[in-house]
Amino acid sequence: MQFDNAYFIIGNAYAGKSTLARLLAERHGGILCGENWHDSYPEPLDAAEFPALLYTRDLKDWRAFIRRSPKDYEAWYDAVSRECEILELRMLPEICKRGKPVFVDTNISTETLRRIAAPGHVLVMLADPSISVQRFFERPDADKQFLYRLIQSEPDPKAAMENYRQGLMRIHSQARYDRLLHAGFPVILRDETRAAEETLALAERIFGLKACVSLRPHHGMCFQFYAGKGYSAEFTDHIGRVVRALSDNPQTPVRLTCSADVVCEHCPNNIGGVCKTADKVSRYDAAVLDACDLCDGDELPYAAFSAQVRERILDAGLRRSICGDCEWDALCTR
Ligand code: SF4
Repeated sequence: MQFDNAYFIIGNAYAGKSTLARLLAERHGGILCGENWHDSYPEPLDAAEFPALLYTRDLKDWRAFIRRSPKDYEAWYDAVSRECEILELRMLPEICKRGKPVFVDTNISTETLRRIAAPGHVLVMLADPSISVQRFFERPDADKQFLYRLIQSEPDPKAAMENYRQGLMRIHSQARYDRLLHAGFPVILRDETRAAEETLALAERIFGLKACVSLRPHHGMCFQFYAGKGYSAEFTDHIGRVVRALSDNPQTPVRLTCSADVVCEHCPNNIGGVCKTADKVSRYDAAVLDACDLCDGDELPYAAFSAQVRERILDAGLRRSICGDCEWDALCTR
């Protein structure tokens, strides 16, 4: 079995896998299978088949969780990974059938990936393993902070923390890092001086993805009136960069996508890849596609798309009927 349209990202913690998977999905109009996406498996899990995944569900006292020996912690972690792989492999065929690129932040083992992934569709991302141990409790996640408080409330918090740290050191060991590093797949090492866009470009080269910019159809209208205003300073800077890049390189191919796009990447209204005003912007997108006689997923040079928007919508006097209820409408009345 091969998942030709799936791109798999594996690696260790803090390497940036989930951020990269999200950016790739947004940039290439793809489907995101983000961190812990197996949680969306639609069927109830059988306790005999998934004992590790159900361990925490059936736990009576979380002290048992933090008091496990480092060896037991590691064994449980490995069992969870194996069970996640089973779920992912059950869910992927249906997702891949949708015909879009699928970006998977995955638990699937390198052995299985060699069998199921298309050539060039696996990327390893790695961070120094000591970061994962040192920074484990720095993350604001509620579950990590809960564990931290639990450890601190143990009769001997120092010993309890050391026991937990030893478990973390096992699952983030140098040996595991080296195995991934030398698994035979391309590797991107964590580099805090590298911008997310640069990591994205590296991954695109590794995966052989065409430098195609994903664009919500209605943003083709917004771009015609861009005046340096937006929902936040970061967002305004970002949209300015996108508009300039496309204006300077009008032959850049764009893929029209009725979901989060290159513009949405830095928008405060983008909540986990979904726009806060999804109903409204989807209506705008559909109307632009209809007016320009285009479809979701169509690819064409930016110049051609922009010209269609001008001729068929702006020059035809249709703009207000499409997005007249937008809060920025006054900016576009020129
Ligand atoms: S408002 Fe919605 S559609 Fe517009 S840029 Fe923000 S997230 Fe994207």
